[in-house]
Amino acid sequence: MNINNAEFIKSAANPKDFITAVMPTIVFAGKSNVGKSSVINRLLNRKNFARVGQSPGKTVHVNYFLIDKKAYFVDLPGYGYAKVSKTERDRWGRLMEQFFARDDLITLGVMIVDSRHKPTADDVTMANWFKATQCPLVIVANKVDKLKKSEIEPNLALIRETLELPESIKILPFSAEKGTGKDELMGEILSYVKKP
Ligand code: GDP
Repeated sequence: MNINNAEFIKSAANPKDFITAVMPTIVFAGKSNVGKSSVINRLLNRKNFARVGQSPGKTVHVNYFLIDKKAYFVDLPGYGYAKVSKTERDRWGRLMEQFFARDDLITLGVMIVDSRHKPTADDVTMANWFKATQCPLVIVANKVDKLKKSEIEPNLALIRETLELPESIKILPFSAEKGTGKDELMGEILSYVKKP
């Protein structure tokens, strides 16, 4: 199944602008440069909708997209970019604390990690925030096109171990570049979106 229509709704820099999940609300998170925009664009079959290659860490906003008028995709600001100022980092931390303090903003969390590397301390923090909400969560292990076949399983195991994920949380090998895993991720997302 494909998405036909995606519409930018707003950028929230302030908790009062968060949108309550009255519609299925799919929340995407990941460190800067992990390919979060590319994953969203791949799902939407668009080249440059969620912007790719933005100056990392510059966008401390929660971006809302309305998908086929029946779900929201929520793009959380990327994290972990070394060159970002302390002010920006603090702004990020505050906004994320305010976001995850609410229990009515997320239907499904989609956390994107780099399939090539052990998740960072920031990734662990983000995974813990998601776990604390008790909302369903799926992990996307992106850039799998850069791995040898034999490296995939051990890397997924390292991700599971580092993020302390129970077996009930799926890790999907993914390549935004090649489209690997798109149908599986779309299937997960659609299982939370009501059919017309
Ligand atoms: P964001 O900062 O997380 O939104 O990351 P972007 O979507 O801007 O991607 C960061 C860089 O990684 C860009 O140069 C992308 O072309 C590249 N990239 C994203 N996904 C993949 C992937 O699956 N495979 C490869 N090889 N590169 C990717």
